[in-house]
Amino acid sequence: MSKSNILTTNYKLNNVFKIMSFIVFFAHATYLVIFAVIGAEPLAILNIFSVIIYLIIPIILLQENPASSLCLVLFQLEVMIHAIACIVVLGWGLGFELLFIAFMMTTLFADTGNKQITYFFAAAQPFAFLVLFFLYHDSYKITGYWRDFLFTFNIVCVCSLAIVLSFFLEISNRTAYQNAQKERDDIKDISNQDPLTKIYNRHALQEFLDENLSQARNFAVMMGDIDNFKRINDTYGHNVGDLVLVKVANIFKNIFRKNDFLCRWGGEEFLAIICDIDKTEAINVVRRAKETIATSKVKHGETELNVTMTFGLVYCDGGGEFDIWSLIKRADQLLYKGKNSGKNIVMFE
Ligand code: GH3
Ligand code: MG
Ligand code: MG
Repeated sequence: MSKSNILTTNYKLNNVFKIMSFIVFFAHATYLVIFAVIGAEPLAILNIFSVIIYLIIPIILLQENPASSLCLVLFQLEVMIHAIACIVVLGWGLGFELLFIAFMMTTLFADTGNKQITYFFAAAQPFAFLVLFFLYHDSYKITGYWRDFLFTFNIVCVCSLAIVLSFFLEISNRTAYQNAQKERDDIKDISNQDPLTKIYNRHALQEFLDENLSQARNFAVMMGDIDNFKRINDTYGHNVGDLVLVKVANIFKNIFRKNDFLCRWGGEEFLAIICDIDKTEAINVVRRAKETIATSKVKHGETELNVTMTFGLVYCDGGGEFDIWSLIKRADQLLYKGKNSGKNIVMFE
């Protein structure tokens, strides 16, 4: 996963976490009032600490590199201590025991960086549930109106948190899927790209043909080859040869349109498929490319050199069946005809 994706995921998860802290903060503020009203002072005091924890968690999450795992551990510890204290003081059956069930799910996200801590939380919650059940299942210290109210309130809290947790899960899953898709696209882009000139390589042609040339369209196939390139390499070195290739690719990029196809066909050969164009215009475009290349200078330190290119151009008016490989072969033959007639020329038919 790339660094920016991890940051985006953390950002989204932290946002959900902030919402969760907000809900739990209000739940505890409500508990505080209820416990004070029913005279459960130890629980009311404990809730003051809980309320403080849920004020601290969003502050931690607002930091630039928030310690989300610490927040999750604080969150789980607080929920467990709160649920245990409520069951011990108020008895079983008020819905506090449901918190253990709901919070087993949070263990899924407890990436504490330490597997032992994660396992501890995973095991502690059902264990605490069972121990408290055996100790307190027949203890009912509250009856009547407050019993119903607390039970209903706890059910609402557990359901709300379950909904927020499902968002956690959804964001994690969606992000994992998007990352896998992006990595697949990146790999495809890399395998279709020439690393030196950053234009397509010949592998990309098939995809372009499948996606763009399936319907009959007017197009021209251009094959261009740098003249005397071996001599450039031999005289100035391979690095200067590479600079020439990049320069030529950039000139083509500026001349062709977005929906044309341009690739480095091999060594110092470039192939272009110029789409939706008439024959005269296609010849003019390639002539303009030839002139631009011939009049541009490639600079390398003190060295300044001129480069020329020879082109073969074949036109297809989209009127009927065509075989792209025959058209490319024909463009190549015209190119070599140009080489034999003095180079720096556009040959077409
Ligand atoms: P012509 O005018 O007839 O096309 O002659 P040429 O010298 O351009 O053609 P030739 O086929 O004899 O030489 C092509 C050279 O291109 C040989 C090869 O070393 C060089 N070459 C191929 N790929 C690269 C590359 O990626 N970088 C550099 N610098 N040179 C390359
Ligand atoms: Mg050449
Ligand atoms: Mg060549």
